[in-house]
Amino acid sequence: MEVSELPRLTVIGTGYLGATHAVCMASLGYEVLGLDVDARKVERLASGEVPFFEPGLPELLAKALDSGRLRFTTSYQEAAEFGDVHFICVGTPQQPGSDACDLRYVDASVSDLAVHLTRKALVVGKSTVPVGTAARLADLVRELAPAGEEVELAWNPEFLREGFAVDDTLRPDRLVFGTTSEWARERLASAFKPILDHGTPVVDTDLATAELVKVAANSFLATKISYINAMAEICEVTGADVRDLAQALAYDDRIGGRFLQPGLGFGGGCLPKDIRAFAHRAEEIGVGQAVSFLREVDAINRRRRSRTIDLVRGLLGGRLDGARIACLGAAFKPNSDDIRDAPALDVARTMHGLGAHVRVYDPAALDNARLAYPELRYGESALDVARDADVVVLLTEWSEFREIDPAAMAEVVRHRRIVDGRHALDAVLWRSAGWEYRALGRP
Ligand code: NAD
Repeated sequence: MEVSELPRLTVIGTGYLGATHAVCMASLGYEVLGLDVDARKVERLASGEVPFFEPGLPELLAKALDSGRLRFTTSYQEAAEFGDVHFICVGTPQQPGSDACDLRYVDASVSDLAVHLTRKALVVGKSTVPVGTAARLADLVRELAPAGEEVELAWNPEFLREGFAVDDTLRPDRLVFGTTSEWARERLASAFKPILDHGTPVVDTDLATAELVKVAANSFLATKISYINAMAEICEVTGADVRDLAQALAYDDRIGGRFLQPGLGFGGGCLPKDIRAFAHRAEEIGVGQAVSFLREVDAINRRRRSRTIDLVRGLLGGRLDGARIACLGAAFKPNSDDIRDAPALDVARTMHGLGAHVRVYDPAALDNARLAYPELRYGESALDVARDADVVVLLTEWSEFREIDPAAMAEVVRHRRIVDGRHALDAVLWRSAGWEYRALGRP
């Protein structure tokens, strides 16, 4: 296929997923138009600024803009006229006051695009949605589009990880194509040609399976994390050490060590809301029992946050009120500035609410944290927030924190007490520098 024969792509919704997808596709040689309703975001992207932290993406955005193959807009009409394949990448957050997925952005974007589709086109959902959504949207698109039956809908779930998003997009471990016709399948394949040419495995399937793959994968990962954290709870009352336990389990390659790290648990814009929405959807369609364990997975995960605060309270002799607490980390995981459902900020805010003087530092997420939680206090480095602290709490496992010299930090704190919420530090090293060291699930 000549480059001139490649389909022209639009990416609707240019957040963490969409901006990365748009930039990477342009870097692979496609003509791409990114669309967002957030005019400020569109402006920033068009001027070469990535509005969030993602290693490697700013450099790739600059190259893509220079090549002339990547542009941004807020106009659905322009997108509809430009594109042959339209990727829907808008957010699907949790509904306020419910576990259900909020589909309003998906519905709005698909409808606003469809009314302008006057020729044959493929609309491809990438957002994570409850099973059954794609079939409903396929009908909606046909009904609203002036081109009617000429417009088809496919589902292509996305598995990228923030922090590794560029690599995951350019070299995914698999692609899932949920389609309903041979034409749609071929069109989708033409939109991923350079990636398929690398030999990337493809699972060709129907719409419902494609939707389910994503939530099934996230449910499995969440379950694995909560499993080892449940073992940490057992360790805590038996005097066993969950780190050694996890290490011993990991040698069994049927179990494997990835996602088996005990600690403060998962958060972010995906796992928590995806498992809740999955359990909710399963109940709606009468198979709630099949995934009722996900409620327990969620509960175990939430308990890690209160248990971490218990460790801090323990070090303070039972009272948080008036204590000075240094929080290392705000992002939901390292190498990201994403603070959606971040365990770190949840812990920091709860301790603040209990009367502690909390100061937070994060290498990338400070701006987002300041904006979302102006009631907390922030500092410019780990040593800065640790000054005069009664307890230091490591909440996000940035490598910068792993490298802290316990002797240097000892110089600035009031008391040498540390809670390692992520099992990121060398307990022996910290203890030998005179610190009281605590971690979940360890003696
Ligand atoms: P995000 O909030 O960063 O981005 C969503 C974007 O959609 C925002 O820029 C918003 O302005 C835009 N938007 C909202 N309504 C719109 C509309 N009607 N038209 C055009 N744009 C609109 O969210 P995200 O993290 O990029 O996630 C997007 C989807 O991808 C979600 O379903 C998420 O579950 C899924 N996903 C995310 C990741 C990840 O790592 N972030 C990974 C895999 C899948």
